[in-house]
Amino acid sequence: MKSYSRISEIRSDLEAGTVSCARLVEYYLENIHQNEDLNAFLEVWADEAKTRAAEIDQKIKAGSAGKLAGVVIALKDNLAYKNHKVSNSSKILEGFESLYTATAVQRLLDEDAILIGRTNCDEFAMGASNENSAYGPVKNAIDPTRVPGGSSGGSAVAVAAGMCHIALGSDTGGSIRQPAAFNGIFGLKPTYGRISRWGLLAYASSFDQIGPMAHSLEDIATVTEIMSGKDDQDASMMQLDPLPAWSYKPVSKARFAVMKQAIENPGLDSDVKSKFEELLNKLVNAGHEITYFDFPLLDQMVPVYYVLTTAEASSNLSRYSGMLYGYRSSNATDLESTYVKSRSEGFGPEVKRRIMLGTFVLSSEQYEEYYEKAQKVRRVIQDATVQVLQSADAILIPTTSTPAFKLGEKSKDPVAMYLADLFTVQANLAGNPAISLPLLKNSDSLPIGVQLMTKFGEEERLFDLSRLIESLNS
Ligand code: GLN
Repeated sequence: MKSYSRISEIRSDLEAGTVSCARLVEYYLENIHQNEDLNAFLEVWADEAKTRAAEIDQKIKAGSAGKLAGVVIALKDNLAYKNHKVSNSSKILEGFESLYTATAVQRLLDEDAILIGRTNCDEFAMGASNENSAYGPVKNAIDPTRVPGGSSGGSAVAVAAGMCHIALGSDTGGSIRQPAAFNGIFGLKPTYGRISRWGLLAYASSFDQIGPMAHSLEDIATVTEIMSGKDDQDASMMQLDPLPAWSYKPVSKARFAVMKQAIENPGLDSDVKSKFEELLNKLVNAGHEITYFDFPLLDQMVPVYYVLTTAEASSNLSRYSGMLYGYRSSNATDLESTYVKSRSEGFGPEVKRRIMLGTFVLSSEQYEEYYEKAQKVRRVIQDATVQVLQSADAILIPTTSTPAFKLGEKSKDPVAMYLADLFTVQANLAGNPAISLPLLKNSDSLPIGVQLMTKFGEEERLFDLSRLIESLNS
């Protein structure tokens, strides 16, 4: 079967009768089967997907199908889907089934999307390599000796290897963009408060956003538009103008701001640097403006991110006590040992490290020194980001400083792993939308992502500028 990169192509073939939802589902199930060793899925809803495909085929015949008819979607294993398991790739949620459906997921269902399964991720979305899953690592879709990135690694690989058309991920510090970059697909972290977090299992609530991973910019825009907008269940939604259906508005002269500290960073891989600079030259040759800005705060971003996210995580994860739901230790004898043993046995090492770090920075002796200070620096980073974007349309940097690294390469060194987030956390600290575009490759043909960030709430502009860069690069 032809491999589709756009929802619009699927739609026209469905309407012409050259493909059916049933056939599409069969195709993805076959690819899932053939790629089992990549470990992208924790559960595949094969029978349900087939039943739903048959129903939607009927709707297409009747002319009543929604915008996502025939679009097969996978969910990161931290999104609630009523009566389906959700585990956050953690033993602590073993056996747990969602009691309701996440708003973002419901909006896709309302447009006749077909859900095919839940994808593996780093436990509680904490990680940059997908090696922190209780269900084993995911392997990169392009080179299986390498990591897929994290934490939405299963979602990225599922899309890249043709196991679904689109996947949802969540991005707290780069978890959509970094795995998208490592697997050569598109990934968007929307503006904070654009998409409801209701039904997204919380990691760090003031950072988390749900977003799509796809083969094309059009599809990213379509799915974002469908998922976004007011939801009374999420009090942190922002008052943003609703996103209209996106169509490209040509940009004749764009101003891109490139962070000096990113480009001159000693950790920046030489291929990533040279390919990125070639892209900048193309932009200049096409009449666009590149300015280099100084951002001495770059080195503060990862520490601030980790102080604040671990603090929020330590609070969010206190609900997993062995009492209410999920895993309960069979070795417990009383209330206290139920808490201690269930949590000690149920959480993996990275999650425990972060709960301890978060508890430490929130403790009364450390609060001012770490948590409060980090909040202040977050504000400074937000203000500095706003300022850069006053004189530029977008900030342009590579999504990551290296292409996908080898499995096991950083798993023993948490600090090296945390530094994999160097270029992505700014968008989460500031709340701005940012996208990773799969435009470059290194000399070994490994994908390199290009990251664009626009002003708060400016997804449409982000898509226009992305299209501009994409067309120059092709
Ligand atoms: N790698 C980052 C972390 O471990 C990002 C995770 C995410 O965005 N969920 O926190």
